[in-house]
Amino acid sequence: MTALKAEIIDLIRQEGPIGIGRYMALALGHPRHGYYMTRDPLGAEGDFTTSPEISQMFGELIGLWAAHAWQAMGAPARFRLVELGPGRGTLMADMLRATRIVPGFHAALSVHLVETSPVLRARQAATLKGYDPIWHDTVAGALEGPVIAVANEFLDALPLDQFVMMPEGWHERLVGLDDAGALAFGLAAASEDALRIAAAAGAVFEQPAIALDIVTQLAGHLASAGGAALLIDYGSIRSGFGDTLQGMKRHEFVDPLAEPGDADLTVHVDFERMGQAALKAGTALHGPATQRDFLLALGLPQRAQALSLKANARQRDAISDAFDRLIAPGEAGMGDLFKVLALSQRNLPPLPGFDLHRLPDRG
Ligand code: SAH
Repeated sequence: MTALKAEIIDLIRQEGPIGIGRYMALALGHPRHGYYMTRDPLGAEGDFTTSPEISQMFGELIGLWAAHAWQAMGAPARFRLVELGPGRGTLMADMLRATRIVPGFHAALSVHLVETSPVLRARQAATLKGYDPIWHDTVAGALEGPVIAVANEFLDALPLDQFVMMPEGWHERLVGLDDAGALAFGLAAASEDALRIAAAAGAVFEQPAIALDIVTQLAGHLASAGGAALLIDYGSIRSGFGDTLQGMKRHEFVDPLAEPGDADLTVHVDFERMGQAALKAGTALHGPATQRDFLLALGLPQRAQALSLKANARQRDAISDAFDRLIAPGEAGMGDLFKVLALSQRNLPPLPGFDLHRLPDRG
């Protein structure tokens, strides 16, 4: 049993069952045993692989997106390039390398990273040596003046609460103990009369309060101080019901209660509700688009071709594999499971990446 699991069992023995959000927060962020506090989880040797870790092309195209956004903002002389949950710093490094050729962009930017993990902060410091990044514990701390923000697989790591529809109404879903004293899902005895949402019996409603709060803060800042943000994650374009909590270890799904602190826990992002929160806070929305349509509209095929021209046969195969993984639909890739939503100050011209686009035949 993980040290954290023993601690959570003790906590439930003393205080009673805990909400899903509290369980996620402990599993991911416990100061000593939390999943992100103790390790670098990324890559083939780790538990999961993200788009920036699959290919440099991902960050390069997003770098050019950011440079477009900066020009659309009127090329402010100073702005903050902000990343939420930067992992190994790979996306930011690729963005910065690809934009060196954009006149004035690097002179205007300062790099700001929102990261809670000390292990990943150290990785980011090594990856981004020479760019003098400034770290923040909270999103609010990173927001000052004009901002261009990116977040890839950040919102999915934020704790949320769940509610289940029973014949007499909504009940909060909890983590408690079964008869044998093991962690088990259950329901609160009292119903949540305040949740006035119609649904069929058995429906699960997820309440991503922390993610909605962060999107509201970010959008409110962009609306008043200027800028744009790109949110990329797995999730749905339309709101729906369902339990999306998942555990992941060594690239396999695992029971979310099996190894708290030793397996990643995530949820799917409800892009409709994130978009509504941003609209309410005063920004314009672009998308959401699928990752496939977004990357194709930004010129992924052209970028892959340009890289292939300078590559040997083995590297060409790797580029082609990465291309497929980034945009393939269904189980084969990240093309339609992942969505991209951009927010911007209302008066900005359209941002690239959100025109519908079909894959040309690659003959
Ligand atoms: N964006 C990176 C890493 C994704 S993993 C990539 O695409 O490769 C999630 C990232 O969010 C990690 O860097 C993790 O440490 C960070 N993170 C998770 N919860 C956080 C929180 N509450 N505040 C700030 N960062 C958080």
